[in-house]
Amino acid sequence: MILPFARRALPRAMRPLRFALLASALAAFLAPMTVAPAQAQCGVGDITDDGQVDSADLAVMLGDWETESEASDLSGDGIVDAEDLATLLGHWGPVVVETGSFPAQWIWGSPNCATDPVIQVHAYNANTYILRQSICTNFEGPFIYLFFGENKVLMQDTGASNVPLYNTVKAIIDQWLAARGQASIQLIVSHSHAHGDHIFNDAQFIGKPNTTVVGTTQTAVKNFFGIVTWPTQIVDYDLGGRVVQVIPLPGHQTAHVAIYDEQTGFLLTGDTLYPGRLYISNWSQYKASIQRLVDFTADKALCHVMGTHIEMSNVPGVDFPIGSNSHPNEHPLQLGREHLIELNEACIAMGNTPVYEVHDDFIIFPLVFANGGAEGGGSDDAVDKPCCERPKTVFDLARMRGLKR
Ligand SMILES: [Zn+2]
Ligand SMILES: [Zn+2]
Repeated sequence: MILPFARRALPRAMRPLRFALLASALAAFLAPMTVAPAQAQCGVGDITDDGQVDSADLAVMLGDWETESEASDLSGDGIVDAEDLATLLGHWGPVVVETGSFPAQWIWGSPNCATDPVIQVHAYNANTYILRQSICTNFEGPFIYLFFGENKVLMQDTGASNVPLYNTVKAIIDQWLAARGQASIQLIVSHSHAHGDHIFNDAQFIGKPNTTVVGTTQTAVKNFFGIVTWPTQIVDYDLGGRVVQVIPLPGHQTAHVAIYDEQTGFLLTGDTLYPGRLYISNWSQYKASIQRLVDFTADKALCHVMGTHIEMSNVPGVDFPIGSNSHPNEHPLQLGREHLIELNEACIAMGNTPVYEVHDDFIIFPLVFANGGAEGGGSDDAVDKPCCERPKTVFDLARMRGLKR
C-alpha cells in the first residue's frame, strides 16, 4: 500500500534538517518492529538489503534526500522525493517472501553428456521447483517451473523435445503429496508462450488424471485466465493459499505471458527477458510489455527475474554460439529488477528503431525488420512469422544481423 500523499507534497524547506529530526523520532518509535531478515534485495524500500524496511532504510533515504541516489530513488524518476518516502513507509516492516536456493551450476551439456540427466530437477524450496531440460537433448535447454499451492500446482512450459517430462513431474507431485499426507492436487499446465521449445511435451499431459493443459493460442490463454483486456489487464490466479498474477507480455510471441509469484518474489519472464538473446518479433508490443513489467513491479517484492533459457556465458556480453549443445561456464539463470530497468531504458532509447545491442547480461535481438516488419497486429492469434524463423545457426545469425544494418 502507498500512503496517500503526492510527490512534492513536502516543501523543499522541510528537507534535510527537519527530516533528520523526523528520522530519529521515527527510528526510535519503529525500531522494535524489526524482525529477522527474510531475503535481500527483494523488498520495495529495503535499501539496506537486510530483509526489512526499517529505520536504517529511512536514514539512508533521508541522507540521500537532495541527491539522485539510485538506492533511495524507489520510484526511479531521478529524484529522491516524497513519492519515495511514501513508498518506503507504505512497505514498512519485514519483507515476507519464502526463500530458496539455486544450484551452483545447472546441467550445461558436458562434453560427452554422460553426466547430465535428461531433466535436472531442482527444488528451490518445498513448494517451488525449477526443471532444466538437458542441452544434450536439445540446444534450447529450456527451463520449466512448478509452483505448488494447496489445491493446484502450476507448471509453466513443457520443454523443447521428447523427454520423459510427465513421469518426472508426476514423481515430484507424488513426493509433494506424500510429504503433506494429501491425496491429490490439480496440475495446471500452462505456457510462457507458444513456441515449440516450450510446448513440445504437452501431449504427455493431455488426458492425464487431475491435469488441465491450457491451450497455446492467445485466445485460449485469455479465456483460461479470464483476461478480457489484452495486453493491459493483469489477473490473479489462485493456486490455493498462493495467488500468482498473470501479465500479458506480447512482443516475443503473441500469446506470451509473465507470471508473478508474491510467495517467492519470482517473476517468470519466459523468452522476453533472460540471460541470452532476446528475440523480438513485434517491437512496439515488446517495448510496451517491458514497460508494463517495470510499472507492475514498482511496488512488488521482486527477488528474481526468471527466464527460460541461458545463452550468455559468465563473460559479460559474450553469448554461446546459436545451436551450441554445450554451455561451459554459463551465466546464472536468475536476473534482477535492475536488468528489467536496464532493458526498459535501452528500449526507450531505441525509439521506433530497434537495433541489435549487446549488454553484459543479455542481447537485444530484433527480428522485426528481418522479415519486412511486424509492427502492429498481434492482437489475435496470428502467428508471429518472424519469430518462427528465429535463427538456428551462426549463418542465420549473420544473415539477420546483416539485414538489420
Ligand atoms: Zn520463444
Ligand atoms: Zn524459447
